[in-house]
Order: sequence, then C-alpha cells, then structure tokens
Amino acid sequence: LTKRVTGAGASAWDLHSKALQEKSEGKDVIVMSVGDPDFSTPEKITAAAKDALDAGDTHYTELTGRYELRDILAKRHSRLTKQPVTADNVIVLAGAQCALFTSSLCIATQGDEIIALEPMYITYEASICVTGATIVPVSQLAETGFRPDIKAIEDAITPKTKAIFLTTPNNPTGVVMTQTELEKIAQLAQAHNLWVIADEVYSDLIFAGEHVSIGSLPGMAERTVTISSLSKSHAMTGWRLGWAIGPRHLIQAMEKIALCMLYGLPGFSQEAAKVALTDLANEPKRMKEIYHKRRDLTLKSLKPATTLLPHCPQAGMFLLVDIRSTGLTSREFAENLYSQTGVCVLDAEPFGHSAKGHIRLSFTLSEEQIVEGCRRICEFCDSLSQQKTFA
Ligand code: PMP
Ligand code: GLN
Repeated sequence: LTKRVTGAGASAWDLHSKALQEKSEGKDVIVMSVGDPDFSTPEKITAAAKDALDAGDTHYTELTGRYELRDILAKRHSRLTKQPVTADNVIVLAGAQCALFTSSLCIATQGDEIIALEPMYITYEASICVTGATIVPVSQLAETGFRPDIKAIEDAITPKTKAIFLTTPNNPTGVVMTQTELEKIAQLAQAHNLWVIADEVYSDLIFAGEHVSIGSLPGMAERTVTISSLSKSHAMTGWRLGWAIGPRHLIQAMEKIALCMLYGLPGFSQEAAKVALTDLANEPKRMKEIYHKRRDLTLKSLKPATTLLPHCPQAGMFLLVDIRSTGLTSREFAENLYSQTGVCVLDAEPFGHSAKGHIRLSFTLSEEQIVEGCRRICEFCDSLSQQKTFA
C-alpha cells in the first residue's frame, strides 16, 4: 500500500479513540480531547432535513452543491468581505476538511512548497503532502502567545513556495489574527505570487478581537480560497457541510475533483444548511456566549494547578496549556492523566514543534463536566508535585 498520510497527526487521536471506546464500555471518562460541540443541532435545521427526506430528496445532487445554497453562501461572503462573488465562486463539499484537501490538490504539486504556520490543525500536513508538495512549517512561539511571526514567514518563502495555509481563528492556539498581521501576510503573498488557503471555521466564535478574512484585503480575492463549514458555528459536525469560496478557475478545478471523489453531497444535508444559514443565521452568537462562559470557567477551574500555564484563547473551543513545569512530556502528561483520572486531553505536540510541552483541552462540555474534569486535572498535578517533593 502507498503511505499517503504521514506525520505526527496520523496518530494524534489514538488516546482519544481509546477513551471513547472505554467510555462506551461504562468507564468513568471525561473527554476533553475533541472539538465536537455537545449541543444538538438546532431543531429547525434537523426538521428541514427530515422534511427533505420525507419529500424524497434522496438522489444525486448537483456536483458542486445546490445553486440556492451556493447563492446564500456567496451573498454571505460578499456581505462579510465586500467582495462581489457569485454562486459560481462557491463549491459545497463534505466539511472544511474536504475543502482543505481539495484546494490543496488543485493548487500544489510535486516540487512545490507550502508554508503552514504551526501550531497548526492536525490534518494540514497530510492535506499538503498528499499533493507531492513539501510542507514548510513556520513556528509561532509560545513565548509570543503564538502570534504570527511575519519575519519567519518571509524568511521561509523560496522560489518554490506556492501557497500559505492560514488559520484564523487558530486551532489549537485560539489566536485571532489582526488586520495588520493579515495585511503583512497579504503583502508577502502578492509580492511572491502565492495562494492563500484561509481556514476560517471558527470565525463565528470569537470572544476577543475581530475576524478579518484575508480574502477581503485589496488584491487578495484572486489568490485566496476561503474555507469554512457549519460544523462549529451550528453544532453540525456530523452533517459534513463545508465550502470553499475562491476565483472561478480554482473552483472549476475543484469541481473536477469533487466529481471523482464525492459526486455531490446529500440533498437533505444541503436543505438543512440553507435553513442554518438563513433562519438560524444568529445561532452562532448564542453558541459564542456559551463557549465564552465555558472558556472562563475552564481557566478559573484550572487556577489551583500552579504548575499549569494556560494560554487564554481569543476564540474557538480549545485551550492550550503549557505543562512543562510538571516535568512530564506532553505525551506522558496526557497518558498518565488519562490512566489515573479518566480525563482525556490531547498531547498538543502533533500540532507542531512549538506546541511541544503543551496539552490541548477542549471546552465543548457541560459546565459540570468542565468543573469535574479540571478538578481531576488539578488533583493529578498536585500528586505530581508531591511525588517530586518526596523524590
Ligand atoms: N479546520 C480546523 C482548524 C478545524 O479545527 C477543523 C475541525 N473542526 C476542520 C478544519 C475540519 O472541520 P469540518 O468538520 O468542517 O471538516
Ligand atoms: N476539529 C476538531 C478537533 O480539532 C475535530 C477533529 C476530529 O474529530 N478529528 O478536535
């Protein structure tokens, strides 16, 4: 067999899978590892899907997504970015993940280099390397709060650089890039004729700062593919409803891959998406308030653990925590924490070199579970400190 998916990300979910398995067998497990909202998809959205199924919407659909849905997405994008896009600039795919993979396949090939700012979302490495291109990770350091290092990005550009993968808000750091940071990256992209693959799946869940789409900046629409989904904004991870918006020639190339790989998304999923984006356009505001409260509760509940140093996220549903002063590696921390307390967090190192010594904790749980999970984490850290004292 060929080995298409390589890199640390390929095995990053091992402990999480084990925790899910043991939870289903009745073990007292608290899953703080995955960014899957604990809310149900709003009823009105689910009802739209049921109605579509009852009406016989069970056949192949348009390969690039239904026109009405693409039109809604185009109008939304135009409103947010002031860029005059139409439904022809939009392709609807199976989640942001599928959009990242497909755009990567269209943009890069063997011999190209793609810059990705790390810590980065776990699947980027494989999504880039599957094209034959080489990934060039650029570190954003914990010491600078993981803010983009413009000089390091500029230094990483070579004649082979084809694109930059950009995530704002970021998973796992929760950093929201400022307009100034994005303008500097946009300048580099234009000066070196680069594509920007902009992953914006958390743009509706910002607590501090403001979302700026790099595609809205002057001269960027023609070189940017903007990717998002309903997974996080509407608690719809399982519906696999995402999209990419970009220049027509790129979307046309993506359509060809979608034809061979996907052959259209389920109609009922798309009908549900239409309702999510129209009648429930304000739903993310409600979710954002809840996540904001949970973020603050998580930070407060971790306070007793003085060996932990959490990085306060500006957005999203994750908290990166520096665990270096516990004396364990992040892998040891995650494994021992799980075996001793049943709390599952992610070793953050697979997100990139600069996340070494950090764990990622998700706050997509109820307040009671957050409090209990953090209590167990604090107790675990306490026992580590005591072991050190007696050693
Ligand atoms: N990008 C980032 C940064 C993510 O965290 C995720 C996971 N939610 C994805 C893409 C994939 O999202 P989707 O469920 O839309 O495929
Ligand atoms: N994006 C989510 C996370 O980072 C979910 C990923 C997944 O289920 N594989 O946790």
